[in-house]
Amino acid sequence: MVITVLELLILSALVAAPAWFLGGGLWAAFAAWLAVGLYAVVLAWKIDRFDRWLSAPNLRLDPPWRGVWREMALRIQRMLRQQEKLVAVHEKRLQDFLLAIQASPNGVILLDEEGRIEWCNVTAAGHLGLDALKDRMQHIVHLVRDPVFARYFSQADHASEAVIEGRSSSVVNKQKLSVQLHAYGEGRSLLLTRDITAVAQAEAMRRDFVANVSHEIRTPLTVLSGFVETLQSLPLDAHERGRYLDLMAVQSQRMQDLVADLLTLSQLEGSSPPGTHQQVPLPELMWKVESEARALSSFMGGLEVTPSQDLVFDPTPDWTLLGSENELQSAVSNLVSNAIRYTPSGGKIHVRWYAQADHCIFAVSDTGPGIAPEHLPRLSERFYRVDRSRSRETGGTGLGLAITKHVAQRHGGELRIESQVGHGSTFMLVLPSSRCVSAAPVQASSAATELQA
Ligand code: ADP
Repeated sequence: MVITVLELLILSALVAAPAWFLGGGLWAAFAAWLAVGLYAVVLAWKIDRFDRWLSAPNLRLDPPWRGVWREMALRIQRMLRQQEKLVAVHEKRLQDFLLAIQASPNGVILLDEEGRIEWCNVTAAGHLGLDALKDRMQHIVHLVRDPVFARYFSQADHASEAVIEGRSSSVVNKQKLSVQLHAYGEGRSLLLTRDITAVAQAEAMRRDFVANVSHEIRTPLTVLSGFVETLQSLPLDAHERGRYLDLMAVQSQRMQDLVADLLTLSQLEGSSPPGTHQQVPLPELMWKVESEARALSSFMGGLEVTPSQDLVFDPTPDWTLLGSENELQSAVSNLVSNAIRYTPSGGKIHVRWYAQADHCIFAVSDTGPGIAPEHLPRLSERFYRVDRSRSRETGGTGLGLAITKHVAQRHGGELRIESQVGHGSTFMLVLPSSRCVSAAPVQASSAATELQA
């Protein structure tokens, strides 16, 4: 500015001085006025050029002037570069922040004062069925058409969360979402969504489990207390007394079995899977299982001496199982005792071990009633029973197959069930061949298919 005024004064003096000498004061004033006018025109032209340079894309190029204009242009370029750097830093920070929110397992939605979506992460979009781009600036209540959500959104207090159904819910699998609004900024809000399906399922399972256990224990307890009352109030003779005590013993045995199975299950769930250091000789294990089976079958036949079913135990291969002896014995016994308990008298039960591909398999086939296909996937659930009364009559706890499945999985195997109503069932404990060793390598036997048939 100072330079421009100086330039103007010098120019006016330079023009006015000769005019003074030539024509006097009036000419000097006219010449000075002319110089100022000319200077103003030149200045306006320069400003216009500068202004065009400022708005042009060549703002970054070397300024085409010298002197004060160049200085000004360079200063502007420097400021521009600093601003650009600052914007880039902020942009990067914002992107990092958004990426972090995108990576969150929880859904995050930013809402404006009106409740319109400003931004949402992929998780929230998946939870509520939103389109992160197309639904921007749409009102959240218009998109999440759930009366529970609408009620929650309109209420003044959002201190607690609301539970709504997620968009990926199906008839079979309901997705449960927890949603909560948090106020921030000036009238804005943050909507957080969390998939709580697994938590809700675990809670439902816990409730079912407690209800089932209570139900299982209540029946024998009621019967027992009834007998106790009878014994206390009625003058019974020794024979009747003995009969009542026998019936009481059955009920208390039932409760003991239930508690024992519950403890076994909780031990299986709470301990690490068995390693391969423990060696279980298979012939010995099967000898015990067979003796128990024959005793149970005789007992089932009404305390007869001969078993009530035709029990066929194939010769046991000379293998050693690697795993927990107690667990394996309980899994194998469960399958055999189930076959005996559910196969009517006169039926046939076939028990065998064989190798197939990379597995060694323990199979129990029976000619019992068989199981309808809709029950098969649920059979190893705790307390799931197809034939409730038969299970109770024969002292079943409803936990045998749950235990067997756990044992199989802990040994790297699985429980397989094949059954046809009216044609019997085959229950298989399938173990990886690394769990079965023999003097000769365990080989897939061609007899396997034959045995299955
Ligand atoms: P439970 O103690 O009641 O036998 P399990 O878990 O061992 O409990 O078995 C679950 C249900 O599977 C039984 O209640 C029964 O209905 C069915 N089941 C098991 N084994 C057989 C079988 N061999 N034949 C027919 N049904 C069976």
